[in-house]
Amino acid sequence: MQCPNCNCKDIGKIGTNQYYCWNCFVEMTITKGKLSLHQVEEDGSLSSLDDLFEDHDLQIEM
Ligand SMILES: [Zn+2]
Repeated sequence: MQCPNCNCKDIGKIGTNQYYCWNCFVEMTITKGKLSLHQVEEDGSLSSLDDLFEDHDLQIEM
């Protein structure tokens, strides 16, 4: 598995179906074989990055 945002493989697991990219600080949630990306803002809130990607970029191979 690699980060769709920066293509690095420095991914840490932070919960069930939840991963974190240590390179670009993006949180990834896997739902039904599809990734959902969120950026953690300085105030701790999450903003969705899904609009930046095409559907096929977010599909993951199970
Ligand atoms: Zn990344």
